[in-house]
Amino acid sequence: MVITFPHMGTMYIPVKALFDELGINIVIPPRISKRTLEVGLKCCPEMACLPLKVTIGNYVESIKRGADTIVLSGSCGPCRFGYYGVVQKEILRDLGYDVEIVILDPPREGIKEFWERVKKITGNSPLYKGLRAINKAFKVCEETERLLKLVLQKRCREVYKGDTDRTFNRFEDKIRSVKGAQGILECIQETRKQLENIKVDNNKKPIKVGLVGEIYTIIEPYVNLNIEKRLGDMGVEVHREMSVDGWVKYHLAPDIKFRRKQKQILESSKDYLGLCIGGHAWETVAHTLNYSREGMDGIIQILPFGCMPEIVAESILPTIAKEECIPIMTLVVDELTGEAGYQTRLEAFVDLLHLERSRRENEFGKVLSWN
Ligand code: SF4
Repeated sequence: MVITFPHMGTMYIPVKALFDELGINIVIPPRISKRTLEVGLKCCPEMACLPLKVTIGNYVESIKRGADTIVLSGSCGPCRFGYYGVVQKEILRDLGYDVEIVILDPPREGIKEFWERVKKITGNSPLYKGLRAINKAFKVCEETERLLKLVLQKRCREVYKGDTDRTFNRFEDKIRSVKGAQGILECIQETRKQLENIKVDNNKKPIKVGLVGEIYTIIEPYVNLNIEKRLGDMGVEVHREMSVDGWVKYHLAPDIKFRRKQKQILESSKDYLGLCIGGHAWETVAHTLNYSREGMDGIIQILPFGCMPEIVAESILPTIAKEECIPIMTLVVDELTGEAGYQTRLEAFVDLLHLERSRRENEFGKVLSWN
């Protein structure tokens, strides 16, 4: 059995750690590129969600490199994601690829079924070995996320442009050839030290932007046209609550403290949206509200063209923008999104946030002088 899985940002790092620990052969799909997308565009219906098209491209590229089993996470939520596994299986069969697809629905959808499917992957490995591997992979997942957060803090403050990206790119080039969770953790620690040593301007007070939207689109840099890097290069500090590690903590290995905090955030938005309507629309509304109360300068929502839950969230955000007095911009991406227009919109939004900040500071100065 040779397993593959879809790309979603740096998710491949903990997944690699997991399968390395289980001693299972994997094919990490090549980095997403124009070629990956072209494969997906050729074999998916035009109106299918962008993530479905890109991940089909991942599978075909991996199958050509020897993969025969695909593992993906499932969801029974009320949107098209619930059908991804079945639809993708049909598409691959039509293309002549006879591969096994294992869909891991969150355990709350049925713990027995979940374990049956996990056993399909782990085979005859003893349970303790499987649990130990999951535990180590989870640690890798948390550490990878901490590293990404450090990248976001450093990039907007670095003195020598490009230091942060050069360090992180070196890490990504190396990590694919490192074997085992321990080796991966050591590589993360080494990169962490290098990032901490990057020279930054501590007097800088960067504009802060919260990213919200459909989970795949905000996490996968190819699909969001590398928005974190683009904003970081403009001196903006990006905050992104939605993460692979957060998804795992919430759905796969429930972390009580984390879940309680997330539930509080969700409940705080009940005046705007008080239930799950599929995808991560509820999180989009709740995180937007939370970011505005945490003092962000602005919020950017990103969604793939035609994403039903995010369209509903988009219709709610102008009310939050008005009531919380915070600028919010929505970006819709698809295979036709042009880089130049995208960059121009980001630059214009960041200019607006600078103006808003100086207006607020001037007003605050006036209030102080009147007193
Ligand atoms: S959340 Fe949006 S993009 Fe994702 S499957 Fe549902 S409709 Fe498609």
